[in-house]
Amino acid sequence: MIFTWGFGYSCCGCDRRVSKENAVYTYNNSCICKECYSKMERFDGARIILGDAYNDHTYTSFYYKGLFKKIFIAFKFSGYIANGHLLGMAAADILADKTELYACDCITAVPLSKERMNERGYNQSEILAEHYSELFGLEYMHLLKRVKHSQAQSASETVSRALNVKNAFTASDEVFGKKILLLDDVHTTGSTLAECKNTLLTAGALEVYLVTASYVYHKRRARLY
Ligand SMILES: [Zn+2]
Repeated sequence: MIFTWGFGYSCCGCDRRVSKENAVYTYNNSCICKECYSKMERFDGARIILGDAYNDHTYTSFYYKGLFKKIFIAFKFSGYIANGHLLGMAAADILADKTELYACDCITAVPLSKERMNERGYNQSEILAEHYSELFGLEYMHLLKRVKHSQAQSASETVSRALNVKNAFTASDEVFGKKILLLDDVHTTGSTLAECKNTLLTAGALEVYLVTASYVYHKRRARLY
């Protein structure tokens, strides 16, 4: 049932107002409606490449395309914070059966540089991470700092992306001996995640599990189980 303005929830995917029964996830007055949720393409179990190697402790939830991408871009670049909460809930839920993730000691997110944080006003990955933190029962900790302000990455290729983030992060002493769940918003080449993981391990982290809300599919990088 579609409501007129003022009732129900506004869907971040189709902008319609829908009743609670037709909303899969709600956040304040926003929602993802059933129809939009069904159009968000879930990651299909293909293994994810991290940097130049496959990695078994790497998880994602959606493909970075179509409706997911539309809702996410409004969140990341236009300040639609509710979209981020809704995507965070949806993406975390898909991993609910990954028992190994409940056994981590804490969760942290890939940090933004001070410049980017000032410009955007929020770290989109931290907002997503709130919902993984809640689902897996993990404390959110600020464990990484971005010390190098990288160029915007969307257009760069794998090699230049890797160089772009080389030595870009430092880790807090608190990582020592911990099993850490590290979250990033979009997995493109995995260079950022790989660099963050190395930084955490070098600082003494016991293990690092990687999660992203979405994955950019590249045919030449994809391999099925
Ligand atoms: Zn919708």
